[in-house]
Amino acid sequence: MTLLVAVAAQLSQAAVPAARSAAADASEKNADPPVCDRAAFRVVVDVGHTAEAYGARSARGAFEYDFNLRLAKRIDQQLLDAGFNRTVLLVTEGRAQISLSKRVAQANRLSPDLLLSIHHDSVPDRFLEKWEYEGEPFGFSDRFRGHSIFISNDNPARAASLRFASLLGNQLKARGLQYTPHYTQAIMGKRQRILVDAQAGVYRYDQLRVLRETRMPAVLLEAGSIINRDEELLLKSPEHQALISAAVTDAVEIFCPKRPPSKPPSKPPSKPPAKPSPKPPAKR
Ligand SMILES: [Zn+2]
Repeated sequence: MTLLVAVAAQLSQAAVPAARSAAADASEKNADPPVCDRAAFRVVVDVGHTAEAYGARSARGAFEYDFNLRLAKRIDQQLLDAGFNRTVLLVTEGRAQISLSKRVAQANRLSPDLLLSIHHDSVPDRFLEKWEYEGEPFGFSDRFRGHSIFISNDNPARAASLRFASLLGNQLKARGLQYTPHYTQAIMGKRQRILVDAQAGVYRYDQLRVLRETRMPAVLLEAGSIINRDEELLLKSPEHQALISAAVTDAVEIFCPKRPPSKPPSKPPSKPPAKPSPKPPAKR
């Protein structure tokens, strides 16, 4: 099994499809402009890496997986609190390649409306410098800082992936967070990426399996650089995690009405959404 108890618990709360009522059909016909059915919309918040294959090490030796899990749990909770009751926290186990296959299979089985994969960034080894923290030697690089967002052009829902990625980038920007532009630089070598939305900080990374092999809009967020000594501390702070979680939730709220769920609503439509969704932004 690939999911921890948290996932199982949430899945058990997942909607049992209700019979469609005439009122539901009528409200759908009259649904103009489209509204966000939060109770039907499913987000999978994917925790990058696994406890066994933990990803990067931070400037103070902490595991990327632990940062990913902490932030993803916060995002999951905030989405649930906002009424997105079908949100699932996807926690995968096992070694790197096997876990990637399991992750993709699980995401496709859950068939969400959106997948957001949470990671924290590092640098290529050649950029590392040495320092000591609490008497132990560690590698660090203060050269880059900031988040970055990735999509794959090979994802079957490429346009929707980009739309959510741009919404997320703009929500982070509105909260004063700046993306890192360094992936455009030649110095990144084979990790150099094409910036597809220079305002929101969205890059193309076609080969990422979690983006290209999943069959729903899929976006990967590198929430910041844990190899940067100052940013590591920032990323550990609950206040900063709350800021990112709020940006994700607002982006989901704007994205949601654009993708009307194909499944029957989990609850009768007598209960209106918690608050009206904002209008979609003008197309750039
Ligand atoms: Zn990672």
